[in-house]
Amino acid sequence: MDRFKGRTGCEATIFLKDVRISTTILDESGRRANGTKAFDFIAEAVLEQQLDYTGNLELYGKRYGVCYSPLMIEGEVIGMLFTGVDIVSILESHRSMNYWSLITSLVGVTIAMAFIFISGKILNKYASLSERQLNQQILMANISRRFLSDTDIDLMITDTLRMVGEFLNIPQVLLFWLGDDGFTMTCRNEWINPKLGLASRIGGKMPLKEPMLSMIKSFRPDSGEDACLSSNDEVVKKAMAPYRVSFKNYIATPVFIKGEMCAVIDFSREDSGTKWSESDTSLATLFASTLSGVFEREAMGRKTSVVENSPIMIFYSDAKGNLVYANPAASAVTGYTSAELKTGGFNLILGESDLRDVKNLYIPQTFKKGMIKHETVIICKDGQRRLLEVTSFIVEGGMIAAICMDLTETRALETELIKAKDNAEQASRAKSDFLSNMSHEMRTPMNAIIGMTSIAKKAENNERKDYALNKVEESSKHLLGIINDVLDMSKIEANKFELTPVEFDLRSLLQKAVSFVRLRMEEKQHRFSMNVENNVPLFYIGDDQRLTQVITNLLSNAAKFTPEDGEIGVKVSMAGEKDGICELCFEVSDSGIGISPEQQEKIFNIFEQAESGTTRKYGGTGLGLAISKRIVELMGGQISIDSDLGKGSRFIFTVKLLRDKNDSFQQSGGENTSGFSSAARKGEFAGRKLLLAEDIEINREILVSLLDETGLIIEIAENGREALEKIAADFNSFDLIFMDMQMPEMDGLEATKRIRTFEANMSKMGSPVKRIPIIAMTANVFKDDIENCLAAGMDDHIGKPLDIDTVYEKLRKFL
Ligand code: ADP
Repeated sequence: MDRFKGRTGCEATIFLKDVRISTTILDESGRRANGTKAFDFIAEAVLEQQLDYTGNLELYGKRYGVCYSPLMIEGEVIGMLFTGVDIVSILESHRSMNYWSLITSLVGVTIAMAFIFISGKILNKYASLSERQLNQQILMANISRRFLSDTDIDLMITDTLRMVGEFLNIPQVLLFWLGDDGFTMTCRNEWINPKLGLASRIGGKMPLKEPMLSMIKSFRPDSGEDACLSSNDEVVKKAMAPYRVSFKNYIATPVFIKGEMCAVIDFSREDSGTKWSESDTSLATLFASTLSGVFEREAMGRKTSVVENSPIMIFYSDAKGNLVYANPAASAVTGYTSAELKTGGFNLILGESDLRDVKNLYIPQTFKKGMIKHETVIICKDGQRRLLEVTSFIVEGGMIAAICMDLTETRALETELIKAKDNAEQASRAKSDFLSNMSHEMRTPMNAIIGMTSIAKKAENNERKDYALNKVEESSKHLLGIINDVLDMSKIEANKFELTPVEFDLRSLLQKAVSFVRLRMEEKQHRFSMNVENNVPLFYIGDDQRLTQVITNLLSNAAKFTPEDGEIGVKVSMAGEKDGICELCFEVSDSGIGISPEQQEKIFNIFEQAESGTTRKYGGTGLGLAISKRIVELMGGQISIDSDLGKGSRFIFTVKLLRDKNDSFQQSGGENTSGFSSAARKGEFAGRKLLLAEDIEINREILVSLLDETGLIIEIAENGREALEKIAADFNSFDLIFMDMQMPEMDGLEATKRIRTFEANMSKMGSPVKRIPIIAMTANVFKDDIENCLAAGMDDHIGKPLDIDTVYEKLRKFL
């Protein structure tokens, strides 16, 4: 064919049927186009209809004037003869088309004639050779398809080893992988002809010694030449003899990934006599290079899929800082599609200075150090800013990959944690300051109580005794105030702080609050003024005790923090009224030391005092304002402060109260609910009988002596059981029971329940008894405790330590 081309300048091909078995035509990669097929329409015209086909055609990118003629042997068409001439070169050589068509058809006819004389034998040889080539092509096509069809690479390899093994009709095909040492080969995939019953070779090792190692590594499967070690070669056979376990007749082809040998395919044949044919070695080479491609794609694919599926943002940039690739995670975070990112580049997501840093700082540094870490802020499509920790490093092709961890939430959390920690530390500092203050605050009145008591005991004249006892009373009240504050605070912290609404009169409430601080104000010669605006209604339903507590607290702070001769004022005005609910505004102002703006933010917090120095100078627990704030909030209002350091303070708070339009209360009940109880008159309860159930002797003694003058007959029971027995023994003789709650043997709740059951049983039995009022007398003062008392059948409740006025009030109510 080549000689023909040399002489005529024409391309020539012999087709067996429609397959090119010999040709001078080169494909795009410059290889002979052997094994390819003729166009169907030509094959049909020439092979089936036995016509000549002439025309012009494009083959492998070149346009040819062509002529296809049938090749006949003994009257049968066995193939085609092709001649073609490159039209461009004709035009360049200025010869006419006619000349070339004449030449081609003439040559075609001449060669066709010549073939008639070619012996059938030669053609048969060609026929069987090309049939094998065809089958080999089909095999390779199937192998390629197999590699495309599955994802389990091991399965695919084993299956294709089988396909090649069966095609070559040999006992086994093994795939050995090169170990890390660079020469030990381990069998990891195999196909063994099942008919032969051979043992598996998986895991079997084969060292690849020099010079075989260098020799096999030097093969280049893509060179177009066959690349295998073959036992056909005596040198190879001898060198490998010690390592071959079973078959001595073999070919071994290397598999490369990116130019590095990674594995060897070992094809073994049983009979040592048969040599490996050229087509065997070319098939082995072809198979090895197909496997190389598959492995390379696999490695690439894995890399790509890792990057593509990574939940972490990954960007690739070129050396100039142009964005080349952004993975889907980057799109998801930034809100830009990958196409937008590709066209818009880093300009889309980086601010001006960050962009400058990327180009001038980070990229040069990455090239210098190989890998660097830095933080950058990106701006997403929706304007959101996100903080990234970027690890950038050099990758193939002179590019830079940047793996970006989104730190936004973590950093925000970190900041919040630090803030929370600071707050917790400050709270804990405030708490421990509070405890030491508290200890001081409680010891001071205790000290006074103990000291003044012993002075009173020793005092010889009554005046001194009275003075000391007044001080004891004052200190005890102060101590009680602290204890109440602590209790309130613990209620607030346990979410048990609730209001108890009753009818009350605002004017009396204000008087009562002022009366608590009046003494102190008088001592310091404060000028005091109170102004209740005319339109403020007087009667309400609400928790008068708690409201008094807030006003008292503010007033006593004002008295405490205002130097002598200062001014203190209380103002009450209407802030509004809706559906019978009045919003009242209270102002307590003073011309005292004032509070700095920073401290103003803190003083309503639990345990906080404006300055730690304040405590030492002025005393206090730091609880009052926190409690006041809570009370005001429960009453539907707010508290605020307006203060100038050194000039004075003004506390303003609002509360919502239900207006009371009950006239009868206004006329008759006002006095009673004002909180002022007049002292009991001598002999006021003469002849009435009280049962006092109390286990602690001193408590009994106090009550007995306090009530001594009233003429009340008091019988004692030391626990619940005794109380029950006394009632049962003489049930109609008692008018009232004061019942302690915690007592040995039987507590107050149990005793009350039994007394009530006893009363009920007596009535049922026909000897009716009057229901004796039972009043709890206890230090358990939470709302729950009071509810428990009432549920057990008690009628009222008095808190300990006893306030004698309250005791009188209750006696009057029930006797
Ligand atoms: P306490 O007075 O028992 O320490 P409070 O909660 O009532 O607790 O007050 C907290 C702090 O607020 C006080 O320690 C003081 O520093 C500051 N404060 C409260 N009222 C006034 C006021 N009228 N003038 C100046 N400082 C005040």
